[in-house]
Amino acid sequence: MVAQMLDGALVASKLNAETAERCRALIARGVRPGLAAVLAGDNPASRSYVASKAKTCARLGLHSEIIELPAETTTAELVALVATLNARADIHGILVQMPLPAPIDAQAIIRAIDPEKDVDGFHPVNVGRLALKQDGFVPCTPAGVMALLDHYDLPARGRRAVVLGRSAIVGLPLSLLLLHRDATVTVCHSRTPDLAAAARSADILIAAIGRTALVTEDFIQPGAVVIDVGINRVTTGEEVEACFGGDPARLADIEKKGYTLIGDVHPRQAAERAGYLTPVPGGVGPLTIAMLMRNTTLAAERACR
Ligand code: NDP
Repeated sequence: MVAQMLDGALVASKLNAETAERCRALIARGVRPGLAAVLAGDNPASRSYVASKAKTCARLGLHSEIIELPAETTTAELVALVATLNARADIHGILVQMPLPAPIDAQAIIRAIDPEKDVDGFHPVNVGRLALKQDGFVPCTPAGVMALLDHYDLPARGRRAVVLGRSAIVGLPLSLLLLHRDATVTVCHSRTPDLAAAARSADILIAAIGRTALVTEDFIQPGAVVIDVGINRVTTGEEVEACFGGDPARLADIEKKGYTLIGDVHPRQAAERAGYLTPVPGGVGPLTIAMLMRNTTLAAERACR
C-alpha cells in the first residue's frame, strides 16, 4: 500500500482565501481584524514562528503587531501589558508565544488574556467551552487537524481514534474534538504501556509527542489515517538514510540549514502502511497558522456584532 499524502498547505491556502474574504467584509464595515503577538526572550524558533504569523496576517489583510520583551520581563509586567491589549479596540486577538522564559508564570499570563481575545484557545474558559462543546476559541493545531480530515472527507464518526500525546495545546483538545465528532478516542502518553499495540488499534492515528520517527510500521494498522503533528529535526546523513532513504532533497536541506524537519512518524515506513498520511513539513504546520488567522477574524466578527 502507498499512502495518499494529505496536503496541509493546499487546505491552508483554501482556508486562508476564506479568511481573506471575511477580513475584506469586516474592513468594508470599518473594522480591520488585529492580532498582537507578544514575544518574550530570544528563542530563535519562537521568533521565526511569530514572524511567519505576522507575514500571513499582512497577506490576508489583518493588522498585526509584534511586541518584543526582554527575557527578564516579570510576570507582573507581562500581565500589565496583556491588560492594555485587552482594553484596545483595534486588537481582537492576543497571542503570547510559548514557551515563555522560565521565571514567567505562563498560566498567569494565559489567565490574564480576555477569553474573547484568546485566539490560541488556551484560556481555561475556552478549554471549558471546548470540553462542553460550546462556542469559544479552539486551539489552532487541533482545529487544523480537523479541517484536514474534513477536507479529505475522512469522517471520525464511529472510528477508533488514538491520540499519542495529551498536552494542553495539541493532544488533549484534539481528543475532545474527535470525541465530539463521535469517534471512540484513546489518549496515550509517556506512561502508556505498549504504545505500539494501542496505536495499532487506530483507524485514525494522531502523533503529537515530539519524538523523532517514534511511530514505526508496527504502530500502524494497514490503511489507517495517520496525522503527524510532530516537528523535530534530524541533522545527520545516517538519520536521513534511515528515515528518508537518503533523499537528496533532505541531504541538501542539512547541507544548507544544518537540519531537516521530521515528524513523530517514520515517513518511509508509514507511507508503505498507512492509507493516508501527512508529510512533515507541509502537513499540519500550515494549518496551524491558517486557524490562527481564522480565529482572529472570528474574534473581530464577534466584537462588532
Ligand atoms: P508536549 O511536550 O507538551 O507533550 C508531549 C506529549 O507526548 C505528552 O503528553 C507526553 O506524555 C507525550 N510523550 C512524550 N514522549 C512520549 C513517548 N515516548 N511515548 C508516549 N508519549 C510520549 O508537546 P506538544 O504537544 O506541545 O507538541 C508535540 C509535538 O507537536 C512537538 O513535536 C511539537 O513541536 C509539535 N507541534 C507542532 C505544531 C504544528 O503546528 N505542526 C504545533 C504544536 C506542536 P506525558 O504527558 O506523560 O509527559
